[in-house]
Amino acid sequence: MSAPRQITWNGWHVPFIAPWSHETPRAGTIVRASRGAGIAYADELDVVDRRNGTLWVRWSALRGAGRPHLGGVHPLRQRQAMSHMLCQVCAASTYGDAFSRWGGRHLFLVRADQGQEIRDGETTATPPICEPCAAESVRACPELGKGYTAALVERPQPWGVAGIPYNPRTLAPAPAPKTRDGLTFVNYEDPRLPWTLAARDVVTLLGCTPVDLDRLAAHGVTV
Ligand SMILES: [Zn+2]
Repeated sequence: MSAPRQITWNGWHVPFIAPWSHETPRAGTIVRASRGAGIAYADELDVVDRRNGTLWVRWSALRGAGRPHLGGVHPLRQRQAMSHMLCQVCAASTYGDAFSRWGGRHLFLVRADQGQEIRDGETTATPPICEPCAAESVRACPELGKGYTAALVERPQPWGVAGIPYNPRTLAPAPAPKTRDGLTFVNYEDPRLPWTLAARDVVTLLGCTPVDLDRLAAHGVTV
């Protein structure tokens, strides 16, 4: 698969996972699945609406149309980046040269207001990033400007999804309170999974080594 085209906005690369103003959620009518144990769309198309049995939100895909929402996340491109370990900004594979140079590890960069390090076993919905894009992101992204932390990760493993759980009795959606996106992290073993409308792919980060981005850029390796 060739990497998608790079789009710039005000001189910065627009992240692959950022949604554009012409891309919108497409509401579907949520019903009880015919087998009873979970939610489904009334007009569900199994091939596109589910991933590994879990129901996913519907979004149009018109990357590059309108204006980018730089702090946002397009759920289906997030999933594509996470499940294939693509850089969240340029969408290049993070199994490239740097992966070999770093001893078979992926770079993850997350917001950290207090400067706290990425812990082993931490779960995240933020896909990996390549080193040049990480260097640009910490300069361009106002959110990361408040503080960030980076780690090289040996084994990012599938963990679950982030989404909106529905009440099994009433089918009322229950967005998480006090969160910006209203999403709840739901593990693949969690009984709420069949009742969850997924919007992010979530991995757990195993084998984490904190890394200084400047040193990584200068030396290509960490210690
Ligand atoms: Zn990149």
